[in-house]
Amino acid sequence: MNDEGWESVMKVTRTVCDVCTDQDKPAKSYEIRRLDDGITVSKDLCAEHGLALEELLADAPQPTPKKPPKATGGTSRRGPRGITVTSMDDIEKQKAASS
Ligand SMILES: [Zn+2]
Repeated sequence: MNDEGWESVMKVTRTVCDVCTDQDKPAKSYEIRRLDDGITVSKDLCAEHGLALEELLADAPQPTPKKPPKATGGTSRRGPRGITVTSMDDIEKQKAASS
């Protein structure tokens, strides 16, 4: 007779920050290993509590550089330059027309 019970069960499947357990914050799963003794710990952390780890990961070498060039629409819009290609034929035609 209690539907809310099922709803709460469904929410458990979401990744929740281990520190603040805020279900509204998207959390990432981390696995940290200490090489000295091989101790490994898995943590789910939100952006706030995973910030320290994100800073460390920022220095990590990226195996696949997926940094698409940011096409930031700045104040000046770059358009194609008006390059006019003038062939020798056109020059001769212009000479003939002007004379
Ligand atoms: Zn958190």
